[in-house]
Amino acid sequence: MRLYDTMSRTVRQVETSTPRLARIYACGPTVYRDAHVGNMRTFLVTDLIARGLRHQNYRTLVVQNITDVGHMANDTGLGDAVDFDPDEGQADTEDKVLAQANRTGKSALEITSHYEKAFHKDLAELNIYPADHYPKASESIDSMIALITRLMDSEHAYVGHDKSVYFNARSFPTYGTLSGNRLDQLKPGHRFDVVESEPSKEFHADWALWKVAGSDRTQLTWDTPWGRGFPGWHTECSAMSLDLLGEAIDIHTGGIDLRFPHHEDERAQSNSVAGREVVGHWVHAEHLLFENRKMSKSTGNVVLVQDIIDRGFDPLALRLAFLQHRYRSQMNLTWDVISAANEQLTRWRTRINEWSESESEPMAQTYLDSFTELFFDDLNTPAAINELRNLERDPSISAGSKFETFIHLDSLLGLDLARDIGKRTEVPEEVQQLLIERDTARINKDWAGSDQLREAIAALGFIVKDTPQGQEITPH
Ligand code: AMP
Ligand code: ZN
Repeated sequence: MRLYDTMSRTVRQVETSTPRLARIYACGPTVYRDAHVGNMRTFLVTDLIARGLRHQNYRTLVVQNITDVGHMANDTGLGDAVDFDPDEGQADTEDKVLAQANRTGKSALEITSHYEKAFHKDLAELNIYPADHYPKASESIDSMIALITRLMDSEHAYVGHDKSVYFNARSFPTYGTLSGNRLDQLKPGHRFDVVESEPSKEFHADWALWKVAGSDRTQLTWDTPWGRGFPGWHTECSAMSLDLLGEAIDIHTGGIDLRFPHHEDERAQSNSVAGREVVGHWVHAEHLLFENRKMSKSTGNVVLVQDIIDRGFDPLALRLAFLQHRYRSQMNLTWDVISAANEQLTRWRTRINEWSESESEPMAQTYLDSFTELFFDDLNTPAAINELRNLERDPSISAGSKFETFIHLDSLLGLDLARDIGKRTEVPEEVQQLLIERDTARINKDWAGSDQLREAIAALGFIVKDTPQGQEITPH
C-alpha cells in the first residue's frame, strides 16, 4: 500500500517494522459532544487503511485514543481556523469536557461516557471496524507521569514558574519538520504561543506536558510529583501510543488540523524518549465542509450521522459519498451528494440481488486489478469506485462474474453490498392495481395509456419492463 506521508511529503510504500503486522495509531475523538460527519470522514481513513492491509494479509493492530481530559478549547493549532467554536469554552483556558459539564450541570464522567458510547455507535453505523484498543486519557495518567519523568530526566522538560511542566522545544533539533513550521518563525504572539498567557515557560514555543490546576478546577485533576493538575493534550498520544504499540509505529493518522501543534509536539515527545523516529508514516485527512461552510455549532452548521439516518438515508450512503472523494482533498458535503450516494447504494444492492441468481463465474480480473491498483495507490477511492460503475455497465461481463467481483471488493469498501440478497420486493397494492390496468391497456393496444401507467408506476418507485413472460417490476 502506498500512502502520502506528511513527513517526507511524498507518496511512499508503507513499510512495517514487523513483517506482516501493521501497527496503527489513530487520534480519536474528544468526547464532550457528538462527533460530526467531518470527524467521521477522518476516522474512516484509518478503517480504509486497515482494511487494505488486511486484504493484503497483514495483521493489523489499531489503537485509537479517547480524549476525555486536557483538550483545551483552543489548542488545536492550525485547526483553529476551521474548528474553533466559541460555544466550546473559553479559548486557551478551558478544558472542553469541563466547559460542557459546567454548561449542562453534569459531571465530567457523565459527559464523557455518554459521548464515548455515541462515538462507538456512529462508527458501527458507518461500518468502521472497531480498533483493538480505545485507551482513555483519564485512565492513562500513570503512563503520562512516567513519560514526563523520562523527559525531565533527559532534560527535554522542565518545571516552569507556575509549577506546570513544559517541554523544551529547543531540545529537539528537528522540531517543526513535520508541519513545516520553524522555531524561529513561531514568534511570540503567534496565536497559540501567546507569551503573556503562559509567562512561566522559558521559550514561546514550549508547551505544557502537565498543567497545574487552579483552585477553581474541581474535577479531572491528579496528584503528581509536580503537584495537582492535569495533562496537556499532546502528552496522552505519546504515552498511549508508546505503551500499546511500542517505539515503532508504522502509521499514524489524524485530521489535517492535528499536524500542528498536536502531532509536531507528539513527535518531539515520543522521539525524545525513544531516541528514534517513532512513526513511520504520518497520514492526514483533509477537512470536510458542509454546504460550503466549516462545521461549527455556533453557526448551526453541524451534521451528525444521526441526522442522516433521521432523514431516511442509509448511513452507509455517507460512507459511499466519502469514498467518492479523495481523503487528501477538502470535500464539500451536501444533502444532494448524500441523496445521490443513497440512490447509487440502493441500485447496487438491487443489482447484486439480481446477479446473485445467476451461475457463479470467476471474478472480472481486469476490473479487479484496476480497482485494487487504484485503492492501494494512496486510497484513490473515487477512481476505484468509477471502475465499479464501468463494471456494472459492461455487457461483456456475465452477471455471475459481476456478482463475485462486487462482493469480493466490498471487503475493502465496507458498503454492505450483499445486504439485499434474497430479498423479495414487496409490491404495494396500489402498484399492483396499476400493473393490472397497464396489462389491460396493452391487450387493447392502448400504447399511450400504457405509457402513462408506466410513468405513474415510476412515480411510486418502480420500473416496469416488458418481457415475453409479461411485465417485470423492479424498484429503482
Ligand atoms: P476532535 O474530536 O475535535 O478531537 O476531532 C477528532 C478528529 O476529527 C481529529 O482527527 C480532527 O482532526 C478531525 N476533524 C475535526 N474537524 C474535522 C472536519 N471538519 N473534517 C474532517 N476531520 C475533522
Ligand atoms: Zn492525538
